[in-house]
Amino acid sequence: MKRHLVWLRADLRHLDNTALLAACDDKTAQVACVYAVTPGQWQAHDVAGVRIDFELRTLQSLQRSLHALDIPLLVIKAADFRQLPRVLSDLVQTHGIQAVFANRQYEVNEQARDLAVAAELARTGTAFHLFHDQCAIPPASILKQDGSPYVVFTPFKRAWLERLATGNRHPQAAPSKRPGRFAESSEVPQQVRGHASHMAPETALAWWPAGEEAALERLAGFSGKPLAEYQQQRDFPAKDGVSQLSPYLAVGALSARQCLNAALNHRRRHGDTAGSAQWIAEIGWRDFYKHVLVSWPHVCRGHAFHRETDALPWRHDEEIFQRWCEGRTGFPLVDAAMRQLRQTGWMHNRLRMVVAMFLTKDLFIDWRWGERFFMQHLVDGDFSANNGGWQWSASTGNDAVPYFRIFNPVSQSRKFDPDGHFIREYVPELRHLSSRDIHEPLSGNTPSLFLDYPPPMVDHAAARLQTLAHFKAMRALSS
Ligand code: FAD
Repeated sequence: MKRHLVWLRADLRHLDNTALLAACDDKTAQVACVYAVTPGQWQAHDVAGVRIDFELRTLQSLQRSLHALDIPLLVIKAADFRQLPRVLSDLVQTHGIQAVFANRQYEVNEQARDLAVAAELARTGTAFHLFHDQCAIPPASILKQDGSPYVVFTPFKRAWLERLATGNRHPQAAPSKRPGRFAESSEVPQQVRGHASHMAPETALAWWPAGEEAALERLAGFSGKPLAEYQQQRDFPAKDGVSQLSPYLAVGALSARQCLNAALNHRRRHGDTAGSAQWIAEIGWRDFYKHVLVSWPHVCRGHAFHRETDALPWRHDEEIFQRWCEGRTGFPLVDAAMRQLRQTGWMHNRLRMVVAMFLTKDLFIDWRWGERFFMQHLVDGDFSANNGGWQWSASTGNDAVPYFRIFNPVSQSRKFDPDGHFIREYVPELRHLSSRDIHEPLSGNTPSLFLDYPPPMVDHAAARLQTLAHFKAMRALSS
């Protein structure tokens, strides 16, 4: 009887999983799944404890779904990617497995890991099949007419939407039940030493219930009125205007195809709403940043997309950085956002842009510091989206607008949290201030003496001019 192994990585689901379905294609094959705990690699990649906790809880839920199909889920441990070829190959030998199936990951270290595993498996005569599954359209497969990759989002999106309209991109069903098992499931660890979540278990559970069922429930809840109103509501952090599906997409409890399918079904019922069009475009951004890292892998090696911007004299000031990390900048919206991240493991997209731009353009701190801090705290930490978002904000990446896009943190606050509801939730020391004063506490009627809140740590207008001067000087040098 044939024995197949599915190596699960960022695709922790049994529905619409291309590698799992391929492994189960032969109805007579027995199939097991394996997941590798790699603490050293998590450390090297700055994976947040809150994300590891979410991933392990997702695995526990997946194990139950797979069990019903007679597919055991094994858990192996390797310090880091370098040990994986040997550990996987041992597993394959022990169980007499003929073929390993996996969905591709596109980051540089992950690709190198897969090459090493492929070589080791080939040595022992085991087949290794890799599939495109993570994106709606395989990264770097959409090219300009001259064959080069798209650099900015809008033309990419146009081509991406055209491609989406062709071919069958419906989510696939669950695989069929297997004819028995060749191994018993392992116990999924509750926690891995050194990678615990900073959130109390009940808080994590309340914020981020894990597993496919929870993901599909959230998707279904979002696919009605919130999706129709997404365009109007999505920029206001005090409103429930966005899906909060990013953690599920990051660990693969949900696929991009399932999301797009929900949006298309919404269109069938409600017509072509601005909300559904905008949300589909956000899934396009997710694809776009994976396309960027495959087309320009130097972004995976700590370099700016526009390499000449590596010459900018970024500051590396720990004390200033720390104030940003702790939400003590004296800019209420920035501080509320940073505290939301620390408390919940998640931050609203508008706020990610505001705090990233504040760190890089107002404080002129190296964007790589912010990128790393985000990864260390995000439940949805994803290399390509995070790197892309940081480089977009720092004007070192794929923004069609040049470096002079600099948000004013106070105007952003007045515009996107007009009543101060969001600020009050996360910065309780400002709770008593009026909607007028809360965005700029020390310029209102409240004397600073009565506020347990710091003054603004930077003069935005002056910092803006300084940053523009740095960019101009860098451009003059590189032209
Ligand atoms: P929705 O608005 O409901 O959008 C649906 C989905 O589309 C999201 O779940 C996400 O998968 C995708 N998406 C939306 N916007 C973007 C975007 N700009 N780039 C890529 N994908 C997008 N997203 C992550 O998933 N992981 C990260 O580590 C991450 N880091 C970021 C860092 C910065 C500095 C910035 C500016 C953005 C970052 N984003 C990241 C993108 C975006 O902020 C989040 O995907 C979004 O806030 C998640 O909330 P949601 O699920 O409610 O999104």
